[in-house]
Parts: sequence; C-alpha cells; structure tokens
Amino acid sequence: MPDSFDVIVIGSGPGGYVCAIRAAQLGLKTACIEKRATLGGTCLNVGCIPSKALLQSSEHFEEANHKLAEHGVMIGGTVSLDLARMQARKGEVVTANTKGVEFLFKKNKVTWLKGEGRITAPGKVSVDGTEYETKNIVIATGSESIPLPGLEVDEAQIVTSTGGLELSAVPKHLVVIGGGYIGLELGSVWKRLGAEVTVVEFLDRLVPAMDLEVGKAFERILGKQGIKFRLKTKVTGATKSPEGVTLTLEPAEGGAAETLTADVVLLAIGRRAYSEGLGAKEAGVAFDERGRVTVDAKFATNVPGIFAIGDVITGPMLAHKAEEEGVAVAEILAGQHGHVNYAAIPGVVYTWPEVATVGETEEQLKARNAPYKVGKFPFTANARARAMASTDGFVKILADKATDRVLGAHIIGPDAGTLIAELVMAMEFGASAEDIARTCHAHPALNEAVKEAALAVDGRALHI
Ligand SMILES: Cc1cc2nc3c(=O)[nH]c(=O)nc-3n(C[C@H](O)[C@H](O)[C@H](O)COP(=O)(O)OP(=O)(O)OC[C@H]3O[C@@H](n4cnc5c(N)ncnc54)[C@H](O)[C@@H]3O)c2cc1C
Repeated sequence: MPDSFDVIVIGSGPGGYVCAIRAAQLGLKTACIEKRATLGGTCLNVGCIPSKALLQSSEHFEEANHKLAEHGVMIGGTVSLDLARMQARKGEVVTANTKGVEFLFKKNKVTWLKGEGRITAPGKVSVDGTEYETKNIVIATGSESIPLPGLEVDEAQIVTSTGGLELSAVPKHLVVIGGGYIGLELGSVWKRLGAEVTVVEFLDRLVPAMDLEVGKAFERILGKQGIKFRLKTKVTGATKSPEGVTLTLEPAEGGAAETLTADVVLLAIGRRAYSEGLGAKEAGVAFDERGRVTVDAKFATNVPGIFAIGDVITGPMLAHKAEEEGVAVAEILAGQHGHVNYAAIPGVVYTWPEVATVGETEEQLKARNAPYKVGKFPFTANARARAMASTDGFVKILADKATDRVLGAHIIGPDAGTLIAELVMAMEFGASAEDIARTCHAHPALNEAVKEAALAVDGRALHI
C-alpha cells in the first residue's frame, strides 16, 4: 500500500513550502517534494536571498570606499575586498534560510519527499520511482532563466543569475543582457565591487513594467553611479575565447552590427515557467502558449485534484506572490476561502536607491482613460534622508480624481522596499490619499515622504 496524503506539493520554493506549511497548519496530511538538495527553491538558493546578501555586502564595500568620509568616518589606507569571504557569508545566509525551512517542515509535520516528483495520474505522484497517493496535488515547480539563441551558457563566461551570484573574481567588464530587476541588481553588485558594467536592453527603457517617470529617474541615478546603458539594442551572437566574450550587437530596429567585448556576460532577459519531467502534460493538465500551467481563480487546473501556484502560473514572478498563492490554495483545499488581491502586490528592485511599486502606473491609468491625481515628494526635502545623505529619488502616489482612492504608488529612494508596505496596506484597506495624509507619521522618518506625497495629491504638501 503506497503512502497517502491529503496534499502533495511539488516544489519547495516560496510558493510550495509556504503552501505545505499552511496546509499542515490546517490539519491536512501534507508532503512536499523537492529535487534540489536543500529546501527553499530558486528564492532561497539562487534568487532573492543570495542576491540580497551580495547586495548588502557590496553596499558596505561601496560605503567604505565612497560614502563614509562624508560622515567624517575616515578609514586609514585602502579598503580591500575579500570576495571569497563575501561569497562564503552569502552561502551562510542561504544555509541559515534553507535550514530554517527544514525546521519549519519538522515543526509543522510536513513530510519532505526528496527527489524528482512526477505526476503519474490524477491522485498519484512518484518520487524517483516510489509511488504516493494523494487527494490533491499542488504544482509549484517555479521557473528557469530564458536562454538567448546564439549564446551558450557555461556559468563561467556566459552566466545566468545563478553563475552571476557565484563569480570568484570581479570581472573587468561585465555585460548584462536585459535591463530588468535581476540584471540591474546583479549589475549593481559587480559595479560596486569594481567591475565596469554595461547593460544592453532591447527596449528603450529599463524595467518596462515600472512607472515611466520612476524608470527614467532610475536610469539617471544608476548612470550617475557609472553603469552604462545601451538601450534599443539587441544581442545577436557571441564568440568565446580564453580572453573573454565578444558580443555582436545591433540596433533593436535593425541596422549595422557592432561588437562589444566582456570578461563575463550575464544573461538576464527574463524567466519562464518550469515544468520539465513533471508529467503534468501527460496527465492532461492544460498549459498556455508561454508554457505556464493554466489555472482558474481558485488555482485549479482543468484536471480535478491538480492545482498550481507561483512562477509556473501567470502573474508577476515574485516570491511573495507565490507565497500568497500558496496560502490561498492551502486554505481552499481545507474548505476555506483563500484569496489573493493581485491589485496590491508590491514589486521591489533592491539596488541603492531601491525602487518599489504597487498598483497601477501613470501610463496604465492614461491607457484606460482613468481620471487621476498625482502627488509627488522628493527625498531631498525629507529630513531623515538628508541626515542619511541619501536624497536621490521621490515618492509618487496616484489617486482616483473623484474618490481620492489610492490606485498606485511608486517610490525610488532609500529603503523604498520597506516604505512601500504602508501603501500596499493602504490599498488593501481601500484607503484614500487623504487617509495616509491624515495619519501621524513619526519624525524624522523616511516615510514622512509618503505622507507628504499623499498631501501633495491634494496640492498641500507642507515641507516643499
Ligand atoms: C537572481 C534572482 C533574484 C530574485 N530576487 C527576488 C526578490 O528579491 N524578490 C522576489 O519577490 N522575487 C525574486 N526572485 C524571484 C523568485 O525567486 C521567484 O519568484 C520565486 O522563487 C518563485 O517561487 P516558486 O515557489 O514559484 O518557485 P521556485 O522558487 O522556482 O521553486 C521551485 C522548486 O521546485 C523544484 N522542482 C521543480 N520541478 C520539480 C520536480 N519535478 N520535482 C521536485 N522538485 C521540483 C525546483 O528544484 C525548485 O526548488 C528572484 C529570482 C532570481 C533568479
């Protein structure tokens, strides 16, 4: 008799492991299958966590080199880099997090089935040959880096984000293909550590989903930091030699080709749903044209008893979006009313300054002819940002012209990723800009800039 479960989750990324924990909390007998040696998926092993560890460490290096003197903190002699130590610390941070999930599985009595999971029939999953029965299957197999024809990834000279997090020496010239958040975060890391960094982007702007005004400011600020941009440019080929990689570039609209040499090329043109070897297609599960599992509003696929969440379905490829879906599907399976509000999912780029966004952009509001008001406030006028010597950027709030309800908020500035939480909460509660403006904010704090932007929606900012 094979072991049987109420729920088997395939994949232990932030979608899968959170789903498994919540299902177990709700009394369902739960297993989670993971083929990687450690739990936590892309996010904990090769994504959010290692990238943030390197962003933090490289920002300290940057501060020691260029920012502390302004504060009167003088370092005698030169600041040097111990990259091996920095990488080792990153590894320690990753291990602490993946072990943390292992602990949470034990605490909540989630069974970790180690190996590759394959759906053999609805209600049946095999893990490296051993069969298990389950009332429900949740597919949470995540995503992988999108390849570019003509570029052979070797994770040494031509790397994806995985190799880009593991470099053992600072490249002299790093070319990043793709001006999205992963490319800009890793580009920032290696720029701070001493590389020359060029970002090649097909479109005429960075992070295309971002509010345009914020995107333009972002480009300007990163440019001031020394990152070079080649926008409206496509990479059409690459030749490797022991000295480096020669890329062939062409204008996006076509035209004369040119070459660009690099020691390391980081391929960061996006990610795509991953479901290789899963057996879902064979079990009759429907996929869309981009290889994502098709689900309904309750995360159910077309096959009864099979559900899917996270990067493998539609929506922003973000860890917290996957987590929310994990909780929601677990609650649905337990007979509750799990729900995700896709209108209030923040997105953050963890460069310095950070960029954070929630809700609609000004371009989206214009496109749907929505009457709106804008309130903006720059960090140059925020006392705490001045005290920190970190005044680049601004807060921008978009509110409905008639009702004043917050429709979107976009921040570029110090700690924007934390500041945005207030605005996400405001949107969850259906708050108006005035609700934020009339809320007492501690002084001196960076989020007074949020309050001031909310006041500015009504043309009555106080400190500018
Ligand atoms: C460099 C980088 C930085 C990022 N930074 C951020 C960030 O700062 N913030 C943010 O929100 N998001 C970030 N992301 C995105 C984030 O990592 C993903 O959105 C998130 O991990 C998706 O979670 P998931 O649970 O859907 O899948 P994943 O985390 O991809 O996990 C899927 C897991 O399923 C396993 N698996 C697949 N198939 C099988 C199978 N058949 N059997 C067993 N196991 C299987 C895989 O091994 C993997 O461990 C980043 C991504 C990258 C690459």
